[in-house]
Amino acid sequence: MSWLNWLTPRPKTVKTKAVMQESQLFVADVAVRVIRKPIKHLHLRLVPPDASVQVSAPLNLSDERIRLTVLERLTWIKARQAVLATRAVPAVKQYVTGEMHYYCARAYRLEVIEGKGKQRVVLNGDVLQMTVADASSLEKRAALMDAFYRATLKAMMPDLLAKWQPIMGVKVNDWGIKAMKTRWGTCNTRDKRIWMSLMLAKTPVECIEYVLVHELVHLLERNHTPRFHALMTQFLPHWPALKQQLNQSARSELML
Ligand SMILES: [Zn+2]
Repeated sequence: MSWLNWLTPRPKTVKTKAVMQESQLFVADVAVRVIRKPIKHLHLRLVPPDASVQVSAPLNLSDERIRLTVLERLTWIKARQAVLATRAVPAVKQYVTGEMHYYCARAYRLEVIEGKGKQRVVLNGDVLQMTVADASSLEKRAALMDAFYRATLKAMMPDLLAKWQPIMGVKVNDWGIKAMKTRWGTCNTRDKRIWMSLMLAKTPVECIEYVLVHELVHLLERNHTPRFHALMTQFLPHWPALKQQLNQSARSELML
């Protein structure tokens, strides 16, 4: 899968699930991500790291009602966004306490503990705790984070393979997790070996599943032909929404 896909325009409304609809609207010049689902009340929240606006709304609530709610809080929203915009986003992660890191499509605050404990990253409630030796290098810290992401994906893969291989009637000989800059996954059809990108640990679980199914379909159809897409639709009917979700997350700071 090529990252060039990100350049394709997004359709206005995406159905991620039958009961969950995602769309985007603008109030003044503020983009609002709207997720309609079976809930009773509207919730508005600002999502880190850039305080982008996300509204969860009951399924039948009109765009107009959502617009009004956002409008009522526009001054507060703009003030929050202005504060965050002045904070320079480092081009490269520094792995220091307070920095935000993505994990399974959520931003978590990093807490760095320098000391004698086992060097590792663990998820503790809303915090990613990294234990490092005193004054450890940036490379070492980055490697610890990668190890955490890798372990997450490694733990997920057996279940996902056990679920999908029988459904699809395929079987891989080998699989692995790899730091890849330009692909979400690859499939060596001759050796029946798939690689999943380390970056997937930052994305929603459904997207990881989508990439896996995509790579497994390659065992049935080598190229991205109409048959390939028909097979995708057969196994994972809402794959276009998942693909879009993945590309959207790749465009965000999530992938920094
Ligand atoms: Zn492919």
